[in-house]
Amino acid sequence: MKILITGGAGYIGSHVVKQLLELSSCEVTVLDNLSTGNKATINTLEKIRDFNFLQLDLKEFDKINQFLTEEKFDAIIHFAAYSIVSESMQNPLKYYLNNTVNTTNLIECAIKSGVKKFIFSSTAAVYGDVQENVNIKETFATNPINPYGMSKLMSEKILQDASKNFPDFKYVIFRYFNVSGADMYFDKDNLCPRIGENHNPETHLIPLVVKTALGKRDLLNIYGDDFKTPDGSCIRDYIHVEDLANAHIEAINYLEENKSDIFNLGYSKGYSVKQIVNAVKDVIKIDFKTTIVDRRAGDTAFLVADNSKVVSTMKWKPKFDNLELICKSAYEWEKTI
Ligand code: UDP
Repeated sequence: MKILITGGAGYIGSHVVKQLLELSSCEVTVLDNLSTGNKATINTLEKIRDFNFLQLDLKEFDKINQFLTEEKFDAIIHFAAYSIVSESMQNPLKYYLNNTVNTTNLIECAIKSGVKKFIFSSTAAVYGDVQENVNIKETFATNPINPYGMSKLMSEKILQDASKNFPDFKYVIFRYFNVSGADMYFDKDNLCPRIGENHNPETHLIPLVVKTALGKRDLLNIYGDDFKTPDGSCIRDYIHVEDLANAHIEAINYLEENKSDIFNLGYSKGYSVKQIVNAVKDVIKIDFKTTIVDRRAGDTAFLVADNSKVVSTMKWKPKFDNLELICKSAYEWEKTI
């Protein structure tokens, strides 16, 4: 099988590429403009086994069309996108152009070139502000409260409409909750992640907590402690990137059965910001300062998946549903960058 992974040099994409290289015999091609992903990640992945890498921006419509027409991929896993909520509030068009317009073109080129399977990375941000503190099912209303979530939701709708129009074109849409942790690679008995999260600027909680513990930052800001949650800080569903990546491998099998659907990807388990801070302190035995600051624009109190659909539909079996392992792998990775 020939698979194209867009955004394969990024955090999540690179873990999926790694698993495809290690677990499958697929011919893998990564397309990435290296705007947020990096070449060092590609070089690391090349040590696992050979694959093709093309540095190209999805906005180059003619080149994308030509490339897909020539290569005739069987499947596309589409990660390439911008993903910072606060940036999307300041520059919404950047998000709609890259995440929605470029995705629409990719879908069209995919269909024209005979691609039958499309896996799309969407986000829990499509749900918006869920009023009740209940685990979110895929059937819940979608009301994004930021352009990032809206840009992904629009792409979901476009993908669904395209599939209705071309019934042989099947999709899996994954709505990710809080992806975290790093490559679970062991050298002898030591956990030594080869790839991991490295955003610039970093906005995500776990890497920021770990950076603070390592003294790369002075203190950790906790954005609000007056939410309607037991300790007042926001609750999220933190899923290990290895488990999240593995769902994409299962999705390829699912698509072989000529079906399409939307799935949440999380553990159905929530931790507050304060619990994450304490977990990192416990795991790495380093104390550090925290301070409570104002809420961050666009944050909701509680975002936890109900993952029963993906668990009952796919053969996906999470292996790292363990906050300690998430924190430990994030920490070991952070030490290398
Ligand atoms: N958060 C925090 N301090 C930080 C970064 C994040 O308190 O320095 C909180 C944030 O307000 C949210 C949670 O941690 O409640 C997870 O944020 P993150 O940016 O990791 O993911 P998001 O849920 O926004 O996608």
